Amino acid sequence: QERMVSAHYTGEDGQLESLRPRNLNEYIGQDQVKENLRVFITAAKMRREALDHVLLYGPPGLGKTTLAGIIAHELGVQMHTTSGPAIERPGDLAAILTNLSEGDVLFIDEIHRLSRVVEEILYPAMEDYALDFIIGKGPSARSIRLDLPPFTLIGATTRAGLLSSPLRDRFGVVGHLEYYSQEDLCRIVRRAAQILQVPLEPEGAEEIARRSRGTPRVAGRLLKRVRDFAQVDGHGKIDREVAAAALERIQVDSAGLDALDHRLLLTMIDHFGGGPVGLETLSATLGEEPDTIEDVYEPYLLQIGFIQRTPRGRVVTERACAHLGRCLAGGPAG
Ligand code: ADP
Repeated sequence: QERMVSAHYTGEDGQLESLRPRNLNEYIGQDQVKENLRVFITAAKMRREALDHVLLYGPPGLGKTTLAGIIAHELGVQMHTTSGPAIERPGDLAAILTNLSEGDVLFIDEIHRLSRVVEEILYPAMEDYALDFIIGKGPSARSIRLDLPPFTLIGATTRAGLLSSPLRDRFGVVGHLEYYSQEDLCRIVRRAAQILQVPLEPEGAEEIARRSRGTPRVAGRLLKRVRDFAQVDGHGKIDREVAAAALERIQVDSAGLDALDHRLLLTMIDHFGGGPVGLETLSATLGEEPDTIEDVYEPYLLQIGFIQRTPRGRVVTERACAHLGRCLAGGPAG
């Protein structure tokens, strides 16, 4: 099922393409990453060199793809986009690399999902702008080196720890994207409303921002849904009341939690006394893959301090219990 608050890209988000910032000045928040990049981009342009390879990591929906596009735009070069799972064989990657023009950006999303054989093609490409081939078999086998134009690889991943260390070490620039502050999200919602030409009161923006899980992609999506309710039930204008009522109706609560988050937390409270409960046990009880729990449910709940990870498993915190209006039988954990 598709979650309203999912940070992952869904087909419908394609309509939000017009909201994507196109240059660094339009990109809200992430100041440290942004200002460092500004310097590196300017320096590379002054030296007329390709920008060093960039690794962007952070939870989905925070703006990694957007930032890669901005880097290419600021450099004045083409961006070629692919993803770890899309590159099946070394030959696929070789074809992409030999297609690059000087200075171009190659963006590889989910770069941690490259297979080992494909990854090995990348090492000389990143280090020496070269492709190494073995031709022939047995004693007559020879290695041939093919030169590539200087280029910039931008890799995106949800967790830097998922990357092999030889790959990680080959990135000169590493940018860690963090969940956005309420203030930055408000600015993002207001900017989006302006582009979509939706009348929005400051309190309406705050209400949407508060429920957006620190994630611009969620903010854009919630704004679109609230706009529908404002048009049909209200007067077209989004104020606090309209926003809050609309978000309740699509089951996004005051902390941005949806029905799935509630199910996870309530299962931990009702079946396991608030924890600690192991990932496998939780997975069996909820009927969800462990990976889904770790990558989809947990990051935001950890971020807002509703659950904690301990060596013995996950625990629900007092803060989460207060939010849900539930008490733990044996006193709060965490
Ligand atoms: P990721 O690649 O990290 O999953 P995206 O780059 O696809 O995330 O961003 C998701 C959406 O959020 C895009 O539609 C973009 O318009 C919006 N967005 C992301 N970062 C920002 C930002 N800093 N300012 C404004 N909008 C943003």
